[in-house]
Amino acid sequence: MRFKRVKGTRDILPGEALARRELEQMVYEKFSRAGFLPILTPTFEAYELYQRSTGQASDIVIKEMYRFADMGGRDLALRPEATPSVMRAVLENHLKIPIRLWYAMTMFRQDKPQKGRYREHTQIGAEIVGEAEPEADIELVKLGYDLFTDMGIKGMYLELNTIGCRKCRPGYTEKLVEFLKEHQEELCSDCKVRMKRNPLRVFDCKVKSCQAVLKNAPSQREYLCEDCKLHFDQVKRGLEGFSIPYQENDRLVRGLDYYSRTVVEFKSRLLGAQDTLCGGGRYDYLAEELGGPPTPATGFAFGVERALLVSKGEEVFDFTQSPIPLLLLPLGDEARGYSLRLLFKLRDAGISVQAEFRPGGLSRKLKHADARNAERVLIVGEDEIAKARFILRDMKTGEQSKVTIEEVQSIPELKIHPPLLTSGED
Ligand SMILES: [Zn+2]
Ligand SMILES: [Zn+2]
Repeated sequence: MRFKRVKGTRDILPGEALARRELEQMVYEKFSRAGFLPILTPTFEAYELYQRSTGQASDIVIKEMYRFADMGGRDLALRPEATPSVMRAVLENHLKIPIRLWYAMTMFRQDKPQKGRYREHTQIGAEIVGEAEPEADIELVKLGYDLFTDMGIKGMYLELNTIGCRKCRPGYTEKLVEFLKEHQEELCSDCKVRMKRNPLRVFDCKVKSCQAVLKNAPSQREYLCEDCKLHFDQVKRGLEGFSIPYQENDRLVRGLDYYSRTVVEFKSRLLGAQDTLCGGGRYDYLAEELGGPPTPATGFAFGVERALLVSKGEEVFDFTQSPIPLLLLPLGDEARGYSLRLLFKLRDAGISVQAEFRPGGLSRKLKHADARNAERVLIVGEDEIAKARFILRDMKTGEQSKVTIEEVQSIPELKIHPPLLTSGED
């Protein structure tokens, strides 16, 4: 073969593509009822948009961003995450807030390709823009929790934290930096940099010696202002009201200034401690960071590949065995034209039907029908057309009967939905 996929990309074959359609359909139905509208933003944007929002403090995102210059010399990047784009779109299009939006879009990163990590991957996410109340956080978490439950993901629980607000975070950060300075010698070189640039990020460090030091670091919890304390308590009470299991984790942070208050991660015991299914939280200051007016917002996003892997394992719909409910077998030239028109007449009546136009007599066409997994065939010869009666053959039993087109249209087994709606477990 002359051409191969670019390293770090993958083909999503019909089996998995159907599972994705099914998942998107679930999200669409569930989130539509909660007032969420779909949105799609460009695949690439000005590099600075992501650099200002996502990348500012996160070295990883900066290093992994798919940055390129176009022929006009513009500094661009392929979308690493959707939230900055969605917020930009809300502001640029003057969308009336509050507004609720959801998306399913591809994201890009340029890290070393490794198993299960791809340079192009898909995220589904939801954002509530313009609602500051804890109910917005609770609603989102509950919607996400229900979605994953409906997907069959087991052993799910949340990790929950609050990272305060503009009023109370600076006081905490100061204390944290003081603490880190005292323990400078024990920190890794990355953390020494983080300490200066973005102290909260030290909590993401995986180095053992750093983690040992951080065990004794001051907690944001002790420095919360009254409003943040109340918000956090209300979120917790809301989750308890829905019996959603959560663990407080005061080391769960977001290293960017535009994040505020609620930080949440969905985990599954089946994935192991390190593996997060879905991340979310509040980002009340992002709109201002992008030059807009103060606009509170909260959201979450999850990777489709991982969610499908956890819910379905490797098992996807085997599209190679996809049956053809009805296959027309035209015999002769007149029958070909007739069958072509008949295909669309039957489809308009809700029948799933294809035709075998490859040359050959009846026995050859029957062999083709068998190979294509046809459940029934309709033999369309010149004689049959003249009499308006056709031979319908059940390919499993070999049973045959003479039928009119109207009779074919009234066979309920032929009116099947696309496979994505019938491939579920039960
Ligand atoms: Zn506060
Ligand atoms: Zn470290």
